[in-house]
Amino acid sequence: MSECLFCKIINKEIPSDPVYEDDLIFAFNDINPQAPVHILIVPKKHIGSLDDVQGTDAELMGYMMLKIKDMAEKHGLTKGYRVVNNCGEDGLQSVQHVHFHLLGGRKLLWPPG
Ligand code: 5GP
Ligand code: ZN
Repeated sequence: MSECLFCKIINKEIPSDPVYEDDLIFAFNDINPQAPVHILIVPKKHIGSLDDVQGTDAELMGYMMLKIKDMAEKHGLTKGYRVVNNCGEDGLQSVQHVHFHLLGGRKLLWPPG
C-alpha cells in the first residue's frame, strides 16, 4: 500500500472533495484554497514530481492540460486562471506526487514570492 498522500486520496483511503475523475486523472479541491477556485489535478499513476516525468508520460501530461482547460471552463473561469506546478525543494513542492494547481476566481498576483 502506498505511503503517498495523493495516492491515498486517489484510492479513497483518505477522503477528499472530488471535482473530476477518469481512468487517468483525479481532481479535487485543495484543502487550503488560495483562490475561490483551487483545484489539484493529479495523474493516477504515481510520479514523484515534474522532474520525474518521462517521455513515455508525454501523452498523459498533454491530456492533463486539456482536462485542466475543460475544468477551468466548467468552473466559470472565463476571465482567466493560473496553472501552477511546484517542483522540488526550491519550488516548495510539499507533496511528492506530481500535481497541477488550477487557481482562479480572483485577480491573481504576479510574480509569486
Ligand atoms: P504543493 O505545495 O506540493 O505544490 O501542493 C500541495 C497542495 O496539497 C497544497 O496546496 C495543500 O494545501 C494541498 N494538500 C495537502 N494535504 C492535503 C489533503 O489532505 N487534502 C487536500 N485536498 N489537499 C491537500
Ligand atoms: Zn502518489
